[in-house]
Amino acid sequence: MDKSSHQFGFGSTAIHFGHTQDPMYAHQTPIYASSTYVYDTAEQGMRRFSGQEEGFIYSRWGNPTINEAEKKITALETFQLKTEARGILHASGMAAISTLLLSTLKAGDKILTHYSLYGGTSELLERILPQFNITAIVADLRKLNEAEDIFKNDSNIKLLYLETPANPTIQCVDIDEMSKIAKRYNAIVACDNTFATPYLQQPFKYAVDYIIHSTTKFLNGHGTAIGGILIGRDVEHMEYTISKGTRLFGGSANPFDAFLLTQGIKTLEIRMQRHCENGSEVAAFLESQPAVAKVNYAGLTSHQDYAVAKKQMKHPGAMLSFELKEGLQAGINFMNKLQMCLRTVSLGTVDTLLSHPASMTHYFVPKESREKYGITDGLIRMNVGIENVEDIIADLDQALRN
Ligand code: PLP
Repeated sequence: MDKSSHQFGFGSTAIHFGHTQDPMYAHQTPIYASSTYVYDTAEQGMRRFSGQEEGFIYSRWGNPTINEAEKKITALETFQLKTEARGILHASGMAAISTLLLSTLKAGDKILTHYSLYGGTSELLERILPQFNITAIVADLRKLNEAEDIFKNDSNIKLLYLETPANPTIQCVDIDEMSKIAKRYNAIVACDNTFATPYLQQPFKYAVDYIIHSTTKFLNGHGTAIGGILIGRDVEHMEYTISKGTRLFGGSANPFDAFLLTQGIKTLEIRMQRHCENGSEVAAFLESQPAVAKVNYAGLTSHQDYAVAKKQMKHPGAMLSFELKEGLQAGINFMNKLQMCLRTVSLGTVDTLLSHPASMTHYFVPKESREKYGITDGLIRMNVGIENVEDIIADLDQALRN
């Protein structure tokens, strides 16, 4: 299916786009478990290396199984938009993020970002990049005037890094407004679209230059592989500069994980529809519970970023968090009582996953620091899966009761 496929619907594009007929007529693109590719003649090798002939050279540079996943996700992120783009699959979401930052920034450059971010991204910005004299300014990017003042006062800000909705309080930043501000100051704009997926939100509708996904999550959907993608709308820059970064930093994807990802992407639309239906019902149930102090779900009018989510997302999705009134021990007790839903980190899978940051991911983060980011003792983060919603609610209900 080629570019004209954009007349097809989102689900059909997810299923068919990016597939090329296998030379052996296999229905599915096989897992090309080959590190290198052979040439018929020395001249052919020369043509491949010089770029005169298309074809694979070495799997750190490109591989047919990996290409299919890259093309599918890129087609979905540009679905019905008049924009070109090129996606490069990476070994993980973190590999995609670090390749972007290290390939586009130099010593002295600064990044502006929102304070609520995936923990690994925050650590990269706060601990690793400063060693290369690349630093981050962390602010509340929902305060647009303050964000503009930061740009105004610092000409070294070269990149705006967004993640929306964000971990774990589901804060949403206005992609359109923030990227317009960034462009007034000639900054590059990158957006982590992991929580939303292209089904719910397309950052390329706005002045965003790069989209990142941890494909480990909703795009794969089944928790079977770690992966990440970096998609840029400057195709030439992606092919010559960013892909150089991918190759030289070495965070390339592997064909087995790409194969699993491709199978997952094919059902993205239908999974997301059910995730969303279940997400809304579970959020409403939790909000009605006496043991719950607060529900962070971007589809509730009580959520502080409800309007922004409504503006830029087709539906608020399936990620939420909620605070138990009785704090740390209540969180531990609740987690222990779950019967069907699973106690684990990660998200985006068909099964419902819950984590208790205070006793798990944020165990070593001092209480005062995590509370600044809304991570209270009783906060529970939830990926609402696609099981029958009455079973999810029944499990939560029994776990909430003492
Ligand atoms: N971005 C977000 C929003 C995430 O939640 C995660 C992981 O949880 C990452 C990036 C990193 O992805 P990965 O674990 O695939 O490296």
